[in-house]
This record gives sequence, structure tokens and C-alpha cells, in this order.
Amino acid sequence: MSKTTKHPVIGIIVPCYNEEEIILDSASKLLEMLNGLKAEALIDKKSFIVFVNDGSKDNTWNLIKEQIAGWDHSIKAISLSRNFGHQKAVLAGITEYHNEADALITLDADLQDDISVIGKMVRSYNSGIDIVYGVRNNRESDTAFKKFTALGFYKFMAFLGVRVVYNHADFRLSSHRVNVELMQFKETNLFLRGIFPLIGFNTSEIYYDRLPRMQGTTKYPLRKMLAFAWNGITSMSEIPLTIIFKVGLITFFICLIMMAFVLIQYFRGDVIPGWASITLPVFFFGALQLICLGIIAEYLGKIYNEIKGRPRFILKEKI
Ligand code: UDP
Ligand code: MG
Repeated sequence: MSKTTKHPVIGIIVPCYNEEEIILDSASKLLEMLNGLKAEALIDKKSFIVFVNDGSKDNTWNLIKEQIAGWDHSIKAISLSRNFGHQKAVLAGITEYHNEADALITLDADLQDDISVIGKMVRSYNSGIDIVYGVRNNRESDTAFKKFTALGFYKFMAFLGVRVVYNHADFRLSSHRVNVELMQFKETNLFLRGIFPLIGFNTSEIYYDRLPRMQGTTKYPLRKMLAFAWNGITSMSEIPLTIIFKVGLITFFICLIMMAFVLIQYFRGDVIPGWASITLPVFFFGALQLICLGIIAEYLGKIYNEIKGRPRFILKEKI
């Protein structure tokens, strides 16, 4: 796959979990969009759409297999053995199809991500961009609660030193060479939004208005959202581990102040019997244990980084 092609082969990856109410409608809109781009000669005729069925418990897979797949030769589909979650469904699509396309675009089955900006994404790709992040302009389609938690999440991630693109979900174009590098990230706890910025290359952002979900309900209830956020933090940042050591040091410092206080009271003759001999050891050993845990955590953090086996560098060009 060379980057010089003017009409790239584009693959569109669509994870689907219990989307029976919406999948036919979404699929026909996607196909219409794809055919439009082919007619404009913006993309190659071999461009395709892949539906990744993430272990749906409803009729989604039957609809894909028995109806949608028959509409056009450019529709492909894979089905996972059970529900692995959105991130892994997206990864499955990228893994299975990255060698068949110059670039892949991932988007949600409910088409909340505005598919009319796909043309712009492809134009960016043609101008030499490797990752085009879809960034939402507004959060009007979200509940106040989702708005608040989502923004808090991005801020907290930034505080923890994780590079994430603000207000970008998983609507993204990635070039073949980026997808090839993505395959080097072997970690199981996958947080794609944090990994793409680590891959580097030329990136750009495209803004779009995120639409409300047309039908069906969100497949990200609060429980899954929290699990997702927690997974994002713990698979991208070791800062929580380094906090233990710092808390230990602070406790030790408090212990020193208390010792000084005890001495002063002793010389002033203002002593409560038994107070110092109980309180000081509690603080002292508390601090000692936290510091020891903090040291173990330092090593754990190293092991955690080693075990992920991420690429140590990624080449962009060689002449
Ligand atoms: N999804 C999935 N597996 C899951 C949960 C969700 O593949 O376990 C898919 C879902 O079908 C949709 C996308 O991930 O295409 C985003 O889910 P949803 O629209 O429910 O999330 P929201 O837009 O509410 O954040
Ligand atoms: Mg959605």
C-alpha cells in the first residue's frame, strides 16, 4: 500500500453490539455514503465497510448476515465469539482488515458520528495525514451528567499525564502504516484513545456535530462507562502508583511534626500519659509501611511498562 495513491482504498470499521433497531438503517446510510465517495472518485472502488458483531445477544448478526451482506460486494462482516467490549471489537476490525486498505475509519453503529465528514477525512489523508481525529464540537446531545463526567474524565487523564485528544471518541481515520504500528501494541487492556497519540506520525483533527442516537439505547451504561474510564487510567498511567510513595512521605512529615510537638509539651511539663506512646508509633509505622509500599509500587510500575512490550521507537522515514 503506497501513500501516493490518489484514490485510497478505505475500510470503514463499525462495531455493533445489540443494534438490531438501528443496524439496517445505519448500514444503508453508510453504503450510500461509500458509493457516493466512489462515484466522486475520491476513494477506490475496492473500499469497503466491515461490521464487527461484538457478541450481540439480539438479532444483529442475523440481520447483517442475511440481509445487509447481500446488498453489495463491498460489505464485509466478522462476528466475535462473545461480547468483548467496544475497544476490542474495533481492534478486531483493524487487525483483520488493515492489510486490505490504505486507511481505516472507525465509527459507531448508531451513526452519532457524522458520516458526512468522512470525505474531509479522506482528503486529509490524501494530503499526507496519517491519523485524522474526529472531534466533537458540541455535547448538546448528551445528558448533563454525561457532559460533566466526560469532561472531568479528559481533565483527569491529562492530569495523569495521558495524552488524549480532547473530546475525541473513537471516530478516527488511521493510515496503513499507523495500523501496522498499532499491531505492535500487544497489551490486553486496550485503551485505543490513549494509544493512537503514542503512535505519532502526522495527525490532524476534524470537527463535527455529534448527533443524538436515533434509536435503541446506549450500550455504555454508567457501569461500563466507569469501567472504561478506570481501564483507561490504569492501562495508560502509572501516576496512581507513585502517589503511594508521596502519601507515605507526607505521613512521615506529619509524624515528625507530632514528635516535635510531643517534645515541646514534655519540656513545658504538659504531658498526657500514654498519648505519645500510642499516637506516634501509629503514624510512624503507617508512614513506614506506605513508603515501603511506594518502593514496591515503583518496581511494579516498571514491570507493568515492561510487560506491555510497547514499541520503544517508531520510524517515520529512512533515506
Ligand atoms: N459497542 C460494542 N460493544 C459493547 C458496547 C458497545 O461494540 O460492548 C458498540 C456499539 O454497538 C456502538 C459503539 O460501540 O457501535 C458505541 O456504543 P454506544 O453508541 O452505545 O455508546 P455511546 O454513544 O452512548 O457512548
Ligand atoms: Mg452512541
